[in-house]
Amino acid sequence: MPQVQCVTCGQSGDAITDTLFMGRLETEIKAKVCQPCWKKWEAMRVMVINEYQVNLGDESGRELVKKQMKAFLKLGEQADTSKLDQNYRPQPGN
Ligand SMILES: [Zn+2]
Repeated sequence: MPQVQCVTCGQSGDAITDTLFMGRLETEIKAKVCQPCWKKWEAMRVMVINEYQVNLGDESGRELVKKQMKAFLKLGEQADTSKLDQNYRPQPGN
């Protein structure tokens, strides 16, 4: 089983083997997200669609789900602060 370093849970886990039908995002998701986290998102997606009463036939509905997905999986546009945290050293005297 191939492994990925997952950005969602921060651990190394089983890679996604299913086809996701996510277009351009598919490669990124498979490179960055483990299978268990994807399964969690699939469950969450149902809740998002119900909660926001998303019409997936609608462009704006699909965009909303995509945004929620990126936030949930910690992908993409969100500011990546992990490197800042790692490099942060309090300056002596400050
Ligand atoms: Zn994960």
